[in-house]
Amino acid sequence: MDKLKVVLDEKDMPRQWYNLAADLPTPLLPPLGPDGRPVKPEMLRPVFPDNLIEQEISSKRWITIPDEIRQILALWRPSPLYRARRLEKALGTPARIYYKHEGVSPPGSHKPNTAVPQAWYNKQFGIKRLTTETGAGQWGSALAFACALIGLECKVYMVRISFDQKPFRRLMMETWGATCVPSPSNETQAGRDILAKMPDTPGSLGIAISEAIEAAVTDPTGQTRYALGSVLNHVLLHQTIIGLEAKKQLKKIGEKKVDVITACAGGGSNFAGIAFPFLADKIAGAQIDIIPVEPQSCPTMTRAPFAYDHGDTAKMTPLLAMHSLGHTFVPPAIHAGGLRYHGMAPLVSAAIQDKLVTPRAYHQLKCYESAVLWARTEGFIPAPETAHAIACVIDEARKAKEEGKEKVILFCWSGHGLMDLSGYDAYFRGKLSDFALPEEEMAKSLAAIKDLPKPPTGCIKR
Ligand SMILES: *Cc1c(COP(=O)(O)O)cnc(C)c1O
Repeated sequence: MDKLKVVLDEKDMPRQWYNLAADLPTPLLPPLGPDGRPVKPEMLRPVFPDNLIEQEISSKRWITIPDEIRQILALWRPSPLYRARRLEKALGTPARIYYKHEGVSPPGSHKPNTAVPQAWYNKQFGIKRLTTETGAGQWGSALAFACALIGLECKVYMVRISFDQKPFRRLMMETWGATCVPSPSNETQAGRDILAKMPDTPGSLGIAISEAIEAAVTDPTGQTRYALGSVLNHVLLHQTIIGLEAKKQLKKIGEKKVDVITACAGGGSNFAGIAFPFLADKIAGAQIDIIPVEPQSCPTMTRAPFAYDHGDTAKMTPLLAMHSLGHTFVPPAIHAGGLRYHGMAPLVSAAIQDKLVTPRAYHQLKCYESAVLWARTEGFIPAPETAHAIACVIDEARKAKEEGKEKVILFCWSGHGLMDLSGYDAYFRGKLSDFALPEEEMAKSLAAIKDLPKPPTGCIKR
């Protein structure tokens, strides 16, 4: 029998996370406060617990995963590494395609890899309640799940367009005991301000983040903190368990090297998760093409500048050095809700600046077409976000065919699409169209950040 998947024993689950900050050729730029000066860690204390702030600013290469966290992750980890043999055959490619199946977690995506540790560290610190935002609902449901297992209250501000399009995600959150409201809401000043200006807004992650942070920092008991599902260093750190497992699994199946690694990138966490442990090898000289993929309608990495910008619309977060379309940007309502974010993780942005990774953007019709080919060959129905990675895999597999090269392609199958079938419905009925962000629109949202401090050009390798 041909081997189709590699499964690791629970005891082979990684015991440490990998921190790319330790190895980046150009050191990360610090986040800046409203005065343009580097943020002191204590300024983050109303928002995050001390133990997570420590991880956020850490430059230690390896950070131990507490056993209690590994015990919870063992519900679905180590996740299987599959070989996509049927897709390879359908494409007639000599490439060997491997994917990390992150859809096997209870909420169905990679997001619980960080939701569990975040809830656990907050609980350790004595926190009773977490607030957060969610786009497509995957992060909200992941945090709701983690809070249920760990014993915290959970309040989720869900981007309005997804709240309307994806009622089942909200029901998952409620099943796990969380409260979910559409954002912008009337419950926060940030929400009320936006509603007064744009009553019909589909919402955005940037707006929902403002609301969730405000709700956390204004809790008079001081026992509420905020949790972010992507972008931040500690979130990307937690996701590296994906790539660390994949390394062991590729070795176990007899692969000596990887040629191409890809994943979709919204805030950058599942991409970082699979790619960062291999980036360490690339920095040390290995030749690997590493490709984060984003939608053409929200082209943060491929068209937006590397700038200092806020992570949210109401400018509550510090300024992060990242690729950004501008914090006022409201992305078009494409179905890959998890990829509708104006910024990109500082660590991923830094890797782009250092030319270690080469981003790409795809249109949504091509992504759905790829997702359908995938479902009809490999069986599992991918999330619309994941479909962006699949489109790239198919392109790379066809390229390997043209070149007649036996390449090894690895990607992160970030989640299933069983709660996103309305997007497939729109695709099958011909209701979806491609949309590249017009230059004028980008210029408008970028104008909002033109007076913010700029990253020093001296420290950017070009
Ligand atoms: C949230 C999500 C994404 C995008 O988020 P990243 O932080 O960039 O990983 C991608 N795929 C799925 C299935 C998601 O739920």
